[in-house]
Amino acid sequence: MEMKMKDSEALVVFSGGQDSTTCLFWALKEFKKVSAICFLYGQKHSKETEMAKAIAEEAGVDFHLQDVSFISQIGTSSLTDSSIKMDQEKPEDSVPNTFVPGRNLFFLSIAAVYARERGIKHLVTGVSQTDFSGYPDCRDSFIKALNVTLNLAMEDQFVIHTPLMWIDKAETWELADKLGVFDLVRYRTLTCYNGIPGEGCGHCPSCRLRSEGLRIYLERKNK
Ligand code: ZN
Repeated sequence: MEMKMKDSEALVVFSGGQDSTTCLFWALKEFKKVSAICFLYGQKHSKETEMAKAIAEEAGVDFHLQDVSFISQIGTSSLTDSSIKMDQEKPEDSVPNTFVPGRNLFFLSIAAVYARERGIKHLVTGVSQTDFSGYPDCRDSFIKALNVTLNLAMEDQFVIHTPLMWIDKAETWELADKLGVFDLVRYRTLTCYNGIPGEGCGHCPSCRLRSEGLRIYLERKNK
């Protein structure tokens, strides 16, 4: 597997956020060639895709921006509809309203078609079951099921890689640090639901998860 990966090309589902940026640099270490596909799905903040493009350029990877804004026309989410107020707290028994229904299903399916056209077998996504925030399509069972489905659907042999699946946010910071991109991830990625780059707004659910992870990692590192 190791040898095979080193000789292959990977396509990273890339948003310019902390997780997918860490995955982009992970892929650069693991694969011979890396491309990035970034989706425009009606996010309220288009700054996100501009920042993603800048990071991809700096990393020297091909960047493809794909419009999938139909997602926001058929489903509802506070990330794409400004009339919906974002969850401040994660509800106990339901998915948060920042959940974009079908997002990872569409993203990975479209990425697989794009990859197939270019002979790419390896797909990389930054989903994590550990910090899955109540998003069902970030779970390992979904990814494994989809991998089988994609292979059956296109009679192909894709491998979906999920380097962050079993690590938490603090460990994701640690991985970025090991990959030599700690500052790049810290100051130049955009994860904030309010569209503020780097350290973010500090109070949306995404910023809180990110900054808590950073705090834990720095505390561990400085011990
Ligand atoms: Zn924020």
